[in-house]
Amino acid sequence: MAREGENPLNQSVQYLKGVGPARAEALKAVGVKTVSDLLYYVPRRYLDRSEIKPIADLEPGRVVTVLGKVVSTEIRRGRRERLSVVIKDKSGFLDLVWFSGIRYFQRIFRRGLLISASGMVNLYDTLQIVHPEYEILSDEEELDLVHTGRLVPLYPSTLDLKQARIDSRGLRRIIKLAVEIYAPSLIESLPEKVLRSCGLMPLAEAISQIHFPDDLRLAQRARERLAFEELFYLELMLAKSKKARQEKSPGISFSKPGNLVRSFLDRLDFVLTDSQKKVLRETFHDMSSPRPMHRLLQGDVGSGKTVVAMIVMLIAVENGYQAALMAPTEILAEQHYLSCYELLEELGVKVALFTGSLTGRARKSLLKEVEEGEIQIVVGTHTLIQEGVEFAKLGFVTIDEQHRFGVRQRARLKQKGHFPDVLVMTATPIPRSLALTLYGDLDISVIDQMPPGRGMIFTREFGEGNRVQAYDFLKSELDKGRQAYVVFPIIEESEKLELKAAVSYYEKLKEGKLSTYRLDLLHGRMKGSEKEEIMRRFREGETQALIATPVVEVGLDVPNATVMLIEHPERFGLSQLHQLRGRIGRGGHDSFCLLVSSEKKTPEAKERIKLISSTTDGFKISEYDMQMRGPGEFFGTRQHGLPELRYADLARDYGLVRKARERAFKLVEEDPEFTGKDNRTVKEIFESKYKDRLRLLRAG
Ligand code: ADP
Ligand code: MG
Repeated sequence: MAREGENPLNQSVQYLKGVGPARAEALKAVGVKTVSDLLYYVPRRYLDRSEIKPIADLEPGRVVTVLGKVVSTEIRRGRRERLSVVIKDKSGFLDLVWFSGIRYFQRIFRRGLLISASGMVNLYDTLQIVHPEYEILSDEEELDLVHTGRLVPLYPSTLDLKQARIDSRGLRRIIKLAVEIYAPSLIESLPEKVLRSCGLMPLAEAISQIHFPDDLRLAQRARERLAFEELFYLELMLAKSKKARQEKSPGISFSKPGNLVRSFLDRLDFVLTDSQKKVLRETFHDMSSPRPMHRLLQGDVGSGKTVVAMIVMLIAVENGYQAALMAPTEILAEQHYLSCYELLEELGVKVALFTGSLTGRARKSLLKEVEEGEIQIVVGTHTLIQEGVEFAKLGFVTIDEQHRFGVRQRARLKQKGHFPDVLVMTATPIPRSLALTLYGDLDISVIDQMPPGRGMIFTREFGEGNRVQAYDFLKSELDKGRQAYVVFPIIEESEKLELKAAVSYYEKLKEGKLSTYRLDLLHGRMKGSEKEEIMRRFREGETQALIATPVVEVGLDVPNATVMLIEHPERFGLSQLHQLRGRIGRGGHDSFCLLVSSEKKTPEAKERIKLISSTTDGFKISEYDMQMRGPGEFFGTRQHGLPELRYADLARDYGLVRKARERAFKLVEEDPEFTGKDNRTVKEIFESKYKDRLRLLRAG
């Protein structure tokens, strides 16, 4: 610890000019304790004086920044309640409008306050900006803007900071001093080789440019450098974790696919796509190596992941091992079971379904068969990882729909075998950048090609007023011999009410709009056997339309179904809409997704519907979803034991993630303990900041 005292960067900010004990306390609340923390406390964005437009020059359709004083705030009632904040500069007046957070914004925008506001100018009665990005400035700041003539950093300002009288401007002054004095003595945190080969800005320069950039391009490069750094250390951690796992555990060396796989392929009535073949090769490469496999299989809905899973499970069976396939819901497990059963039973492979619905004697006898190795492939839900489920020789585990399982559950299923190989499949594609970090210690395979001969999918939104048209269209498809899904959201809290809503909706359709068609109702409260029967009837074409709660979201595979009508799509999330739509477009006919939406929609819901109507690309959709919700919420990253990222944006920084990952994995390969001369700083930083996290990650 003696050394720490010597390094001025590790000193408390308290001793900086203009700080003192009270302000130091407030800074602590935003995570800034030392001088070094302060240097890394980066601006949220910049105000560019040259970008500021006089209000009189604004035109609709442009994104602008304006500077003005608040002259009035007023809540206006109309079709939708909104807050209007009028600001004024020397040239004119402008309306800033908020539809949400109305009371909050009314409180903070006091008259006379100087603010900057940025956003798209709209013409709606008057010129206005809806939900602008804004900044509350002090008068002196206006002077700064006018006189310095350069980019002015805007720092995140919090209540704590405000109470200690540190506004963005105050912070700027303190940081400016710190940067001038201390940035030059920052020790480079990335190996020289990495810096050079990736063309990154050196640390000292990056810190200085991110605070007081010469131009926006340099600010951007500085941010990239800091983002790279944090990704690099994150990937180092993942690389170490992967290495440790591979060295520690002896895996199974499966030998080549033989007759069983061959006759399976012969029995399929299609040939595998090149993409499926590529994924199979990658997977088999891992399976044949003695290291335990840990692979993530990504592919959009309908891209044919299930067949791939079946083939690799067969390889395990051929090698004398058992395989397990775990799905997040009973319906999906049943669906998988039926597909496996249909294709595998005749090959003499023993397949069984194990879910929570199985009880009593039947359950007991199945458990025994699994334990004695009679059953070769077990399909099930999370019940597979319960106490009391023992396998004779579990060698391969497939997990479908990964994101619904926690890391811990994954680990538990693995423990049931002796280091079985694991294939994780996701139906909600994850943006690659996120996959590389979130599943950074998994290898990734992607099916990026749809099976040939599929029809197109068209998506169209109908207002509630046009519901009849939507149903007429649906009927016209049924009349052509096609089938349809009608899905509606269930919002009731209690099971009883939920059931009632589902039943009453179904009855309404049966007696009304769809009275001349054969319908069935499918909802989550049904018994397993009942669901199975209903799905069978639909699959075999006995029923024409399936009226359902979102339980059909996953798994159902009926190529003749060409219509997915969704009631109240505004209540569904993006990936759920995508999954629902994934139920159609599975055959040669064109398919139609009809969204019957309410007039009352939040702006976010409108956006979601617009996006889903504009693309069927699952990767695009999830990328967008992640941008809207932020990666933390999107995937519960915290639950995965990964650190929050401060500079990198996983939704955007794919290129950076990839580069950082490549470099980090290479470094761990070449110098796993960071003993090399060039890696001394890496070692220091890694040990002080990342070692504990690594332990956490592994415990998961
Ligand atoms: P996913 O699980 O990726 O959503 P599935 O495995 O359910 O997709 O496959 C969707 C449908 O496509 C299934 O009916 C499956 O039999 C079929 N299928 C899979 N691979 C091919 C292929 N190469 N050619 C034609 N059809 C295929
Ligand atoms: Mg599937």
